[in-house]
Amino acid sequence: MAGVEQDVQGGALQAEPAVAANGASAAMAEAPLASAGSADIAVENPATGEIVASVPDLDATAVAQMAARGRAAQPDWDALGFDGRARVMRRAQKWLMDNADRVVETIVSETGKTHEDAQFAEISYAANAFGFWAKHAKGYLDDQRVKSSQILVKGKKLLLRYRPLGLVGVIGPWNYPLTNSFGDCIPALMAGNSVILKPSEVTPLTSLLMAEGLRECGLPEHVYQVATGRGATGAAMIEQVDMVMFTGSTRTGRKVAEEAARRLIPCSLELGGKDPMIVLSDADLERAANLAVYYSMQNAGQTCISIERVYVEAPIYEEFVSMVTEKVRALRVGEPKGPGSVDVGAITFPPQIDTIAEHVADATGKGAKVTVGGHRLEGQRGRFFEPTVLSGVDHTMKVMTEETFGPTLPIMKVSDAEEAVRLANESPYGLGASVFTRDAARGEQLAKRIHAGATNVNDALINYTALELPMGGAKASGLGSRHGAGGIRKYCDQQAIVITSHLAFKREIHMFPYRARTTRMLQRLFKVMYGRGRRD
Ligand code: NDP
Repeated sequence: MAGVEQDVQGGALQAEPAVAANGASAAMAEAPLASAGSADIAVENPATGEIVASVPDLDATAVAQMAARGRAAQPDWDALGFDGRARVMRRAQKWLMDNADRVVETIVSETGKTHEDAQFAEISYAANAFGFWAKHAKGYLDDQRVKSSQILVKGKKLLLRYRPLGLVGVIGPWNYPLTNSFGDCIPALMAGNSVILKPSEVTPLTSLLMAEGLRECGLPEHVYQVATGRGATGAAMIEQVDMVMFTGSTRTGRKVAEEAARRLIPCSLELGGKDPMIVLSDADLERAANLAVYYSMQNAGQTCISIERVYVEAPIYEEFVSMVTEKVRALRVGEPKGPGSVDVGAITFPPQIDTIAEHVADATGKGAKVTVGGHRLEGQRGRFFEPTVLSGVDHTMKVMTEETFGPTLPIMKVSDAEEAVRLANESPYGLGASVFTRDAARGEQLAKRIHAGATNVNDALINYTALELPMGGAKASGLGSRHGAGGIRKYCDQQAIVITSHLAFKREIHMFPYRARTTRMLQRLFKVMYGRGRRD
């Protein structure tokens, strides 16, 4: 595994190499445990069961000291301006490419995902994001001259300014340690903030490796810090920061929102999903089946926007199920031993495999049929679940209503598109969705009727790669969004600035002393402006 470095000085994080259980350098604490936290956290490779490193479990004191350092470093980072910060991000983009193998190995070692899942959905995302935010941050955040039709501000200069909030806290999940944990730090940094990242306790190593990379690229000390630890470390971080960007489960997201509300700081929440796919009778079935298999099984189904349930029109249902079943049967699952070695990797988070097994058992207990898979993979060192297809499912089953987050694909028969849209919307979640049809106009109309943050027509998930588009959840899938203008402006305060020339009148007409003649004149003016009405 690649080396990652971090140390604790007087309770606040600095960088220092340490040795992992497998002999690689890893994140460890140097300073007194009293201030660093009570114990270390062992990081397991879910594909082998081996402990690959350990990291400190930071307590509230350590997090507070880290916050103080981040705040102290922020003004100079902000003062570098967009161009100065963009230079660091572009160097980081190159660093990521130069060190791609090392980063991939680190991601694989802590998640158990395949090299391809790490390469395509993590390295390529972060590399693109470094360049995207380096290029576009200025356009999204530069001072904007605003025009107003309000007569009282005629002749004045109106400016909208975005000012960095100061110290941003990012809390991430375990399924994408680079994309979903570190990825959100990039726009926060480009906006001129210092950032503390609290990665999942299960997958902290990639975040630490990125700290090493950013340091090599000239990021000033303490502008990006990693607070390793469990949920309590995340909660302690919320106490310190000016804004929290959270990605994780809806259950924890609610707690984060409550804490943020108590402190009156903004939060942005990217939460769980139960993404529906609708396949209409006129769809290109080969493409629909290929995408259904890939986007439900990729990353072993541990993707917030993976296809979690499918609705297929009756005339093509049997054919679609059989096509998908054969394609899933061909997938190779097991320990990733290099590129091309397997298609489906491990289940990263230990309790997740119980949820997957429980959802499958619940469905079969209620009459669903497993057409392929259906069990934990036995005889392996690590944690794996067979890629599984279920037919004959309905909404009484958890596999159709709760987030399974595993390599499962339940496929339900529907009578028509209306029923499919109704069932797609019959969910507390609203993250992503997809519609497959050869009629693009109809697909677009149906897409607009699905209550989700993103809907793809004849595609799935791909919206995530277009950083110009907002990505966020409706309903219980989140608040706010990442990417696009909103994905960086949320890391800023908005400030309105009105500049009146020193040559302006000494006294303006609406001011004291009030006179009946002036009041009548203004009344007539308002009538002319607003009182004409429209007869249509
Ligand atoms: P969790 O909600 O369990 O954890 C997310 C993060 O929050 C972890 O770092 C966790 O720490 C931390 N945390 C736990 N308790 C608290 C607390 N009280 N205060 C602050 N932080 C806390 O999510 P998972 O890690 O299980 O991630 C999987 C979930 O993430 C799925 O529901 C998935 O859909 C969602 N997700 C959403 C995405 C989106 O863009 N909408 C993208 C990716 C995933 P620790 O792990 O140490 O307990």
